[in-house]
Amino acid sequence: MIIDMHMHIGDFTFTPGEGRVPLTWENQLARLDEEGIDLAVMLPVYNASPEGAPPGVALLDERMSVRDQVLDAARYPGRIVPFGNLDPRWGSNSPNYDFSPVLEWFVAQGCKGVGEVTAHLPFDDDRVVNMFRQLGSYKLPVTIESAGTEAGSYGLQDEPGAPRLERLLRTAPQTTIIGHGPGFWAEISREVRPVDKWGYPKGKVAEGGALPRLLREYPNLYADISADSGFNALTRDPAFGLAFLHLFQDKLLFGTDTCFADAAGKRPQLGFLKGLRESGQITPEIYSKITGANASALLGIKSA
Ligand SMILES: [Zn+2]
Repeated sequence: MIIDMHMHIGDFTFTPGEGRVPLTWENQLARLDEEGIDLAVMLPVYNASPEGAPPGVALLDERMSVRDQVLDAARYPGRIVPFGNLDPRWGSNSPNYDFSPVLEWFVAQGCKGVGEVTAHLPFDDDRVVNMFRQLGSYKLPVTIESAGTEAGSYGLQDEPGAPRLERLLRTAPQTTIIGHGPGFWAEISREVRPVDKWGYPKGKVAEGGALPRLLREYPNLYADISADSGFNALTRDPAFGLAFLHLFQDKLLFGTDTCFADAAGKRPQLGFLKGLRESGQITPEIYSKITGANASALLGIKSA
């Protein structure tokens, strides 16, 4: 079973006249059929506060509410697995806010996790820790967007070396965190400049990066390989990328983070993994773990 761990619905057009094709339920189901993907995990994106929203012109951003996306997902059982989504600042910015009413609603609607969390707050902010601990007590894994500390990015913030992510992993040990985004994937290398936390660093990976260490040391950390950030990290140094796929075959989750339903919006991840399997660089077992078995075990999805 192949599972796309990172799928959205909505219009991600930020520049007038871009001429891109927004994501709809219909064209996303057609994409899954075309690519041979059995299931997709829908991460609701919503018009968050300015610090939590992707950069761009909000007026062109015709996304639905989290509630609408979760309710609509129920029309596609067996194809779409919904996640809920929320912001650590909800509840008047209180670090003691009780999120259980909304988490119970998510669980009742069949949500298998939460994300992606895009709030531009430090990973170890009290409000983030409070929300993540509660996600753990509801056994809801959480997908995170990750960035550096400078303005003009979005997602949970950290410094090079990921000390704040590590603090969150340690203070919320019951919570499964699914890492994603430039700030997360830059840490595949030991050499990370602040600018790399919101970029796509190229070239050889320096051994001893925070990401391999955290994946090794924290059972509650997983990684989704979606988007340019995940793909860049796995391919910037092909030999390192291949060794990384072997080493963390139980922790990596295939995803696309497709943002547009046109030819330019196609993501290379699945074709890349298929190519590695066909050329014998990864075993069929590693391929099936990364493309679906790890996700179905994590989310408690039984294969059909
Ligand atoms: Zn995304």
